[in-house]
Formats: sequence, C-alpha cells, structure tokens
Amino acid sequence: MKYIYLLLILGLTNIEGNSLMAEENKLKEKAMELSRKFLIIDTHIDLPLHLLRGWQDISDRNSYGEMNYPKAKEGGLDAAFMSIYIPPRLQGTKEAELFANNLIEKVETLINENPDKFSRAVSTEDVINNFKNHIISLPMGMENGAPVTDFELLKYYYEKGIRYITLAHGKANHICDSSYDEDKKWKGLSPFGKELIKEMNRIGMIIDVSHISDDAFYQVMEISGAPVIASHSSCRNFTPGFERNMSDDMLKALAKNGGVIQINFGSDFLNQSYKQRKKDYEINLKYFREKNNLSDDDPRLKEFRDKYLKENPIGYAEVKDVADHIDHVVKLIGVDFVGLGSDFDGVGDTLPTGLKDVSMYPNLIHELLTRGFSEEDIQKICSGNLLRVWKQIEDHASNR
Ligand SMILES: [Zn+2]
Repeated sequence: MKYIYLLLILGLTNIEGNSLMAEENKLKEKAMELSRKFLIIDTHIDLPLHLLRGWQDISDRNSYGEMNYPKAKEGGLDAAFMSIYIPPRLQGTKEAELFANNLIEKVETLINENPDKFSRAVSTEDVINNFKNHIISLPMGMENGAPVTDFELLKYYYEKGIRYITLAHGKANHICDSSYDEDKKWKGLSPFGKELIKEMNRIGMIIDVSHISDDAFYQVMEISGAPVIASHSSCRNFTPGFERNMSDDMLKALAKNGGVIQINFGSDFLNQSYKQRKKDYEINLKYFREKNNLSDDDPRLKEFRDKYLKENPIGYAEVKDVADHIDHVVKLIGVDFVGLGSDFDGVGDTLPTGLKDVSMYPNLIHELLTRGFSEEDIQKICSGNLLRVWKQIEDHASNR
C-alpha cells in the first residue's frame, strides 16, 4: 500500500513538474512571439568602430561581433543606433571630424551593400516604415560631441543623418565635463555647451546625457526645452559611487523632463559584486606584477592571471540584473521612461550570461514576462518610450 502511495506521489510530482515546464515553455514562446511583434530599438551598438578596424560581411551569422543581420533577425531587433564614436584623444583636432566621417561612411556602405536588409533612418516615421517592411533601421548617434565645434558642423552632422549626440565621452571636451574625468573643468557645461543645447533643441538633434558629469546633466535639465535620452546608462542604485550610471535623483529629474534611460547591459553597469570581483582581480594582478617587476608579455603574468581567474572566477551579470534595473526605474519613476541601450560591441567580454548578442533580447522579454510585466509595458520598454521621446523632439523642432 505504501508503495502505491509513493508511486502516486511521484506521479503527481511529475505531472506538476511537467505542467510547470509546459508553463515555462509557453512563456518562452510568448517572449519569442513578442520580440517579433514589437518594434525593438537598441540605442547604442558600437559596430561601426569594428567595421573601421576591419570590414566584415555582417550578413553572415559568423561575422565577428555581437551584431550582425542573422542574429538581429533572430532576436527581433528592428532599429539599432550605430555609434559614431570619437575617441577622446582626437578631441580638439581636425582628426575628430575625419574619424566621424569615416565611421558614418561605414554605416552608409553597410546600407548600400544590403538594401534588402538595412535602411537609413532619420526619423521616427522612417523607423516605423522600415519595421513594416521587415527591414532593419540603422539610425546613427554620435558618441562624443568632439567634432561639433560650431553650429554649422552640428547642422552638417544632422544632415549626414546623426540623430543624437552624446555630449562627451571619457574626458571633458569643449562642450562639458565627463563622469569618468576627475578634472571637472567646466563644473558642468561650458558656455558653448549651454548654447549648443538650445541649438540641438532647435534643429531636432537628440541630446544624450550618458557619459556626462552630474553637474552637466542637471544643467542640461535646466536648459533643454525638449526631453533627452541617456542612450546607454544604468542605475547607480546598484553600483554606488559609479558616476557613469544615473542616481535616483537624476532619474527623477529625467522623468520630469520627459526623457528616457536606455539600460546598458555591460556587467560593470549592472552588478556591484561583479565590479568588486573584477577590482580584486586587477589589484592582485597589479600587485604581483609590481612585486616581480614584470613586463606586459612576461609569461609569468599570464600564468598568474590564468591561475587567479581559475580560483576566483569573475563571471558575468545575468539577464535578471538587467531586469532589476528596469524594475528599479519603473518603481521609481514609472514605466514610461525606460528602454534598451545594450552597448553591444562596446563593452568587451562583460556582457551578461543570456544577453551576449543581439539574438538574445527574447531572454530579457521572457524575464520581464516572468515578473508580471504586461505586454503594453514591454512594448514601451522595447521601443515605445524611445519613439515617444524622439517624436517629441521632432515636434519641438518643427514647431519653432
Ligand atoms: Zn559609451
């Protein structure tokens, strides 16, 4: 008799297990379905820099990197802002312009060589139309305003198709201070930077506040007559002291401005214990190197590195970390102010497990479904919020 009970219990557990699994599979299918149904916009992918270093046929699934056409289709990606990134070392030189133009040319070549796969997109309307035609939009955002030294150049880049400008990168430039730079020479925006904000509003260029210092951010909030974006930033709540992410007060100011934070997927942006493990590793490596006076290519350095990492793996953040950041923004300021700005091809080998490239957005959607996010909310996060902000900026410009 006992034996029969046991069998019965085992059977029931099994049925329960099966139905849980069926439920789980259903949710995964649902996530996949939504990734197809909804327009997905990612506001920061660093592909152009890789193409400049060495041209790749990104219609091939095995091409280098985290973004290519087959993977984008698999992940349901519909519009990928191509980052026109200007290294801070070029600031203040004519080379900054040249560099920007070379990167823009790479994006243009990509589109010209694959007209059935990619299309130029300079407006919300373009993005929506391309989506209807099953073509991936490649709008452009300039990361670091270094080449924009006057309003003529601002107009020039607008006409070239650039639709957002990240005011600075890792170092203060002629526009404003940088979060990564201890030298806050402008204490926010420069006098030119303050004028530039108004001109960007006037012509409909999106202001991107990622990378800039806190003071610069609050000054932008005061001056800008239109909403702004943070194209690839996460929440400082999870990474205390990391100025590159946005504090809760900044998020509140961003919501008041009507803007949107596009969450960065890099593990450094997401998870403090990951950051600590990485920091410990770097300290230990530095100590070992200095103690033994080793050069970069000394085999003992590699040996130490391999052994240390084997014993103290750094690992990665996870999909749920990205969802935690989204959750945080939603609880703090609401679901209308958050989106996706992965930083694919820009953060090296630090991407979360389950979010390694553009084929994996459905994993994030699945996590949001698991947490009870509605379809309507997921649609806002995938693109609705960004499109709303971009449209407001377009309207603001055309009404002037
Ligand atoms: Zn960046």
